[in-house]
Amino acid sequence: MSALTVEPATCGSHNIRYERGQREVFCGLTSIVWLHRKIQDAFFLVVGSRTCAHLLQSAAGVMIFAEPRFATAVIDDRDLAGLADADDELDRVVTQLLARRPEIRLLFLVGSCPSEVIKLDLSRAAQRLSRRLSPGVRVLNYSGSGIETTFTEGEDNCLAAIVPTLPDADRDVRPNLLVVGALADVVEDQMRRLFAGMGIDKVDFLPPRRAHALPAIGPRTLFLLAQPFLAATAKALEQRGARRIPAPFPLGAEGTTQWLQAAAHAFDIGSARFAAATSAGLRRAEQAVAAIRPKLEGKRVFFFPDSQLEIPLARFLSRELGMGLREIGTPYLHRALLAEDLALLPPGSQLVEGQDVEAQLDRCRAAKPDVVVCGLGLANPLEAEGFTTKWSIELIFTPIQGYEQAGDLAELFARPLVRKTRLAA
Ligand code: SF4
Repeated sequence: MSALTVEPATCGSHNIRYERGQREVFCGLTSIVWLHRKIQDAFFLVVGSRTCAHLLQSAAGVMIFAEPRFATAVIDDRDLAGLADADDELDRVVTQLLARRPEIRLLFLVGSCPSEVIKLDLSRAAQRLSRRLSPGVRVLNYSGSGIETTFTEGEDNCLAAIVPTLPDADRDVRPNLLVVGALADVVEDQMRRLFAGMGIDKVDFLPPRRAHALPAIGPRTLFLLAQPFLAATAKALEQRGARRIPAPFPLGAEGTTQWLQAAAHAFDIGSARFAAATSAGLRRAEQAVAAIRPKLEGKRVFFFPDSQLEIPLARFLSRELGMGLREIGTPYLHRALLAEDLALLPPGSQLVEGQDVEAQLDRCRAAKPDVVVCGLGLANPLEAEGFTTKWSIELIFTPIQGYEQAGDLAELFARPLVRKTRLAA
């Protein structure tokens, strides 16, 4: 693909550059690895090729003794005349799967990018199968295709597919809070306790741990995004009448406090009650981060676009750990969802939306950062050139949100630098 670089513009007080070119990001199928652990009675059936099956197996690690809750229905090369057979084949695979795994309550048909899959109408297939299998099993579809999605957009598409199936909330009941974005169960439990301490007890999470426990939503629902890559999900929730609570993302002591504070404000919680519920957690987070700060202060970080967590992470590293920001690349810049984080970045930060990987590698080499945050495909070549790298996918698989994880998040960036120093000694 030929590269296109659009002239720099500004975003608030920051410089922003748009790039379109070759990109190095996993496709949306990767998100199945964390989503299948989260929704415990769901199954993800990728309709794809052998490449998709290999990607999933290597991303998830091969689970030899456990029965994983994902699989790939390999659709071989076929012409348009064979599409009716492909539908029959899909129905047969689903029937076999459900006979073997009767605990499945929610089945996702996940689209991929091979041309023979693109020809299939998976939304019609999902509707057809849902009619046949309801009420026991609901079938939904979304795309994880590498042509359309980067790896965290897989979660966005999955959650956006769930939103139309959420039941309507009763209009007369008290407002409820919906926290949106897959979080580790331990983080979810911590958040629930903090909200309860503040006096917000009607709290639901999307995705739910069980497919039958779908949260009800409506015009009295206020939602907080826990992940910054959920633009389609946020839009779908707003179309159902729910309202987003603008907030920075809950990374670090400051981000978590402001995220919780935004909810407190929306639910009219007084400052004394908020402080009583959060001060102990805030203190622990600040102490944990302060212990790591000497290892990172003054070091420079460069972000390649990958997880879409880059902007909240840059905010955390710069404000709480004193790191210098070189380039902050992100696949997409959702300005409205990230407005609060953008406002907290140092003025004049260099943001890049999209990717032209060769040009970006050149800029990275010239900037000589101490830590490079990038995808797996770039990490090894950069390490071979002498750079210290942090895999951005690790930041998705590791619990990093909330007070109790703030120190762990800082440690994730300190560890590769410390290892490098030890190797050099
Ligand atoms: S969806 Fe596309 S990019 Fe992803 S593994 Fe399958 S073929 Fe590759």
